[in-house]
Amino acid sequence: QSTEKNDFIRSIIREDLATGKHEQVLTRFPPEPNGFLHIGHVKSICLNFGVAAEFGGACNLRFDDTNPTAEKQDFVDGIKQDVQWLGFDWAGQVRYASGYFDQLYAWAVQLIEQGDAYVDLQSIDEIRTNRGSFNQAGTPSPYRDSSIEENLARFFDMKDGKYADGGAVLRAKIDMAHPNMNMRDPVIYRVMHAHHHQTADAWCIYPMYDFAHPLSDAIEGITHSLCTLEFEDHRPFYDWVIDKIGFERPPRQYEFSRLNIDHTLTSKRKLKRLVEMGAVSGWDDPRMPTIAGMRRRGYTPEGLRDFCERIGVTKSDGLVDYRMLEFSVRKSLEDSTARGMAVLRPLKVSITNFDEAVAQFAQLKNPKTVAEFDGEVLWLVQPKHPTLPMGERRIPFTKTIYIDKTDFEVTPPEGYKRLSPENPEIRLRNSYVLKVDEYKTDESGQVVELIASIDEKTLGNNPEGRKVKGVIHWVSATHGVPAQVRLYEHLLLKDDEITDTTAVPDAADADSAWIYQHLNPNSLTVCQAVIEPDLAKAKSGERFQFERESYFIADAVEHSEATPVFNQIVGLKDSFKP
Ligand code: ATP
Ligand code: MG
Ligand code: MG
Repeated sequence: QSTEKNDFIRSIIREDLATGKHEQVLTRFPPEPNGFLHIGHVKSICLNFGVAAEFGGACNLRFDDTNPTAEKQDFVDGIKQDVQWLGFDWAGQVRYASGYFDQLYAWAVQLIEQGDAYVDLQSIDEIRTNRGSFNQAGTPSPYRDSSIEENLARFFDMKDGKYADGGAVLRAKIDMAHPNMNMRDPVIYRVMHAHHHQTADAWCIYPMYDFAHPLSDAIEGITHSLCTLEFEDHRPFYDWVIDKIGFERPPRQYEFSRLNIDHTLTSKRKLKRLVEMGAVSGWDDPRMPTIAGMRRRGYTPEGLRDFCERIGVTKSDGLVDYRMLEFSVRKSLEDSTARGMAVLRPLKVSITNFDEAVAQFAQLKNPKTVAEFDGEVLWLVQPKHPTLPMGERRIPFTKTIYIDKTDFEVTPPEGYKRLSPENPEIRLRNSYVLKVDEYKTDESGQVVELIASIDEKTLGNNPEGRKVKGVIHWVSATHGVPAQVRLYEHLLLKDDEITDTTAVPDAADADSAWIYQHLNPNSLTVCQAVIEPDLAKAKSGERFQFERESYFIADAVEHSEATPVFNQIVGLKDSFKP
């Protein structure tokens, strides 16, 4: 059992249970199926499902599907998969606001009959203009005082398809001078001749979210309806609807702050633009902060849940450091991933004394490293994880190997601890101590090959008479497997990171222009890497630590043993202290 969490939502729930106001907690997570869920939704999911579980209650998954033109079944399916992947179960069947359309319609009729709603035949523009502004009362519609009979007749006509889209709306009759604009006779039903992914062509009028939401909560018996702060101004209408229809056990809405992370978009609308403009390969591009993207990137459900616990739940908006998310993801990977060696920027190393040195292997006394020599390859047997029982891997060590280009510098910067002409010796991870005897360059001065030798006595043993500092990873040039390895940086730059050179091509709308300007041109680097053969056998979705590089996942879509593809999950080092 984790320690008891304490935030204002949990305090309210605890109190409501203690006083007997509620016997059981029932929450809901109410996404609109008009896109894929993102990291912001993860916060809401962890809160809604999390509190339900903690207090022995339940959480419904309800699709707020009142806007058929923006919604589709693919998004419904994607959202269900995402919630399950995060590790949560909804109570009973999936719910749909559209499942309540008959009841919502009956309640709209009830409001008309009570004199609490009227059909307005003004145009949408007129309605908007006549709402007034903050310091100016609205102008009542000429239809505001129509009789109940007139309103009923018009509402039935709306339902029967006698009005075109925008030809009529049903409005709550509240107060055209109310200081809260949401209370100035908000629209609760509109005409929309559109096919719906759940109800097909049964309806040509659809309720507005602000009307459907509180009533869906009431139908399901939701006790605590948790939403983000921008809905605070909608709460008076939420309560108005609940009060006018009349419920014995009314649901209550509570607001918490949205999650915002630097470098990260948490708006479905903008994420959709990214997809549409081709800035990413899709909703599940590993650079996307969508659940689908983060899953493909290799983030773990445990990591995401841990992150949400760390950020907590408050009423004040803030910006979370993305490194906090990486911290949680990294922590979840530390004790669960096998190790492997992959050279991302291969530099060839020819070992001139390989045959003689390895021939000595059989004569080595008590070698600490288990290995088998087959006449050509020395197969080094190593655990997949230094401490956990994950089995063994067989690493081929051969006459020609690759090391990373960045591990040899002709003129090393100060403090450089790897290979250079001045520091020619280094330990090859899991293998011998290597000494660079010579380096070859091309016409441009680029180092293209190292000629080296190994110290035959150093397999699993320290070299005699000297200290060798530093360990580097390597892969056999003849038995390693070519692989595509993708490294990532932020998809977006922060305002202060945008330089004059950031391209802003013609952007059709404000969102696209903003996105173009903030796109990081270096968000994706594709390396033609070479990996140890056991890594190529990875199953799609399997995660590893590539030693001295990063955590990686075998790509869910493109990886195969014949053409391995790995995505960088997160670096090994941490610059963040929680
Ligand atoms: P977006 O603004 O990205 O389109 P939304 O609020 O329209 O998101 P919905 O699918 O309607 O998305 O939201 C489902 C639930 O997730 C809502 O209760 C909403 O408050 C919550 N939610 C959305 N974004 C965030 C966020 N950034 N942080 C916390 N909760 C969020
Ligand atoms: Mg919404
Ligand atoms: Mg929104």
